[in-house]
Amino acid sequence: MTAKELKEKLFINRKNGYLTAKDDVTAAANDFCEGYKAFLDAAKTEREAVKAAVELAKKAGFKEFDVKGKISAGDKLFINNRGKAAAFIVVGSDDIENGATVTAAHIDSPRLDLKPNPLYEDTELALFKTHYYGGIRKYQWTAIPLSLHGVFAKKDGSVIEVNIGEDENDPVFIVNDLLPHLAGEQSKRTLSQGIKGEELNILIGSKPFKDDSESELVKLSILNILYDKYGITEDDFLSAELEAVPAFKAKDVGFDRSMIGAYGHDDRVCAYPALMAILNANNLKKTAIVVLADKEETGSDGNTGLKSDFLAHIMDDLCRMSGKSTTLALRRSVCLSADVNAATDPTFKDVMEPKNASYINYGVVITKYTGSGGKGGTSDASAEYVGRVRAMLDKNNIVWQIGELGKVDAGGGGTVAKYVANLGLDVVDLGVPVLSMHAPYETVSKLDVYMAYLTMSAFHKEF
Ligand code: MN
Ligand code: MN
Repeated sequence: MTAKELKEKLFINRKNGYLTAKDDVTAAANDFCEGYKAFLDAAKTEREAVKAAVELAKKAGFKEFDVKGKISAGDKLFINNRGKAAAFIVVGSDDIENGATVTAAHIDSPRLDLKPNPLYEDTELALFKTHYYGGIRKYQWTAIPLSLHGVFAKKDGSVIEVNIGEDENDPVFIVNDLLPHLAGEQSKRTLSQGIKGEELNILIGSKPFKDDSESELVKLSILNILYDKYGITEDDFLSAELEAVPAFKAKDVGFDRSMIGAYGHDDRVCAYPALMAILNANNLKKTAIVVLADKEETGSDGNTGLKSDFLAHIMDDLCRMSGKSTTLALRRSVCLSADVNAATDPTFKDVMEPKNASYINYGVVITKYTGSGGKGGTSDASAEYVGRVRAMLDKNNIVWQIGELGKVDAGGGGTVAKYVANLGLDVVDLGVPVLSMHAPYETVSKLDVYMAYLTMSAFHKEF
């Protein structure tokens, strides 16, 4: 055997997916990503993502899960958790006690939330105070068009939906920044302090109510517009959830259109393939569950996050209805914690360890463990389980790679994996590599998105 042959046999030999993918696969990837781009534009917040996902599920024949009813093999069900998280179930032919296949992705993304009392006037301009949500680099959120999404819950029980800034004819909103001519002092701040949290104030109006005798006339005029449009007063902001997000649409990136730029790839780029995989699933042996979770970006707490009993209760309901043991079902279930990893950026290569970093177009990333400072806060998938996942990927000709989130001690992060693993399931992180993660406009590869879809489809069929 020559050294070349022996190397081929023994060395890791990963290639750019485009070098090996057949033409029909890249065509299917492009096609799949048209649907993904439409989903991105329709689902910029967790509430909108649940709405869009449930609509797609209903079209695919899914019915709302009735915990008092009966289930049988082939049933396609959905659960809407408070409009902010959701689960989709396809009941398999096998005994639920033998375990289910679970894919969990999250549908919340970093953004600017309005404070409970956000509206104020200063220097005859009206603005909203914000409290940022999730890990953002604050300086990136100035001087870009923002749209406003969310709800007002009024005292009479009615809930009014808000979505302004997405339509071509809508106005947008902006966090303004200092001009370079006068930014001498500001420029001496560190990058993380370049724009401070209390400086993320959104400009929303400038025209005063025409009456010379009172103060705060711009604020008054804005409230007057909001009263006419939504019937709300200043107090109604307290029981509202309003989120400012980038008003950009999803677009192809590059001369070759091989990538997609958009707000909120993290983690819709896993949520959408997970959803499509279960909507297209038929004749499954194991029961399949896809959870689209909220609150991942703030630590998964709360009743719509995965630190809650949301998933355990779903399993409990399914088991009770078929007279089976929940603990056994959970212990024998397997999960893909479907979340993004950081793709290597040629401009910032030094934060990555090249042998264990992920790359654009190299397919889905298996992340065995996350965490920081000596694997702190990770569930660390078992060798045995990763072995099974790896075998499934190879068997299905799926382009895949391994990836750690940066160099040891360069930083770190976490996902929902450990909260699912704490219930007793085997879990591994797997997802799509992203450039500029958590920025207002993130970039992914179309081929990688499609590989995520193929992975999740094979997972529910074969595990
Ligand atoms: Mn994520
Ligand atoms: Mn994230």
